[in-house]
Amino acid sequence: MSAELDELYQDLILDHFKHPRCQGCLSHPDASAQVVNPLCGDQITLEITSTDNKVTDIRFSGKGCSISQASASMMSETCRGRTVPEIKELIAKFSGFMRGERNVQELESAGGDLLALQGVRKFTARIKCALLAWDAMGKCLDGLAHQRK
Ligand code: ZN
Repeated sequence: MSAELDELYQDLILDHFKHPRCQGCLSHPDASAQVVNPLCGDQITLEITSTDNKVTDIRFSGKGCSISQASASMMSETCRGRTVPEIKELIAKFSGFMRGERNVQELESAGGDLLALQGVRKFTARIKCALLAWDAMGKCLDGLAHQRK
């Protein structure tokens, strides 16, 4: 990755950290999850609403490092309005990329600003920070599935 691109991605991460998208809470969430990353002290609470197998709205609140909060902002923005199967595929792509199992083209195909987080993969200790919001989304989807039974 070129130095210019690296800088662009750093700026994008900081922009999401300072001006988070989808921050706050929902008055009537259909599912919610709280996750923590004790290694770094990151915390994220995620709430979603859902209609007909589609995630109609997403809000998160939390505190922690710029990677964890920027990833929550990017995840929320990218997943909002998508169907549950689409979001499950996004989770598989993002976590697969971070674990080194999927290539950068798959991350690119996931869309949004997610590519900006590709550099995190080099820093093993920070991967958990980037994955935290995605773990929360997985838990929310599990919560939805349980409610339908
Ligand atoms: Zn962190």
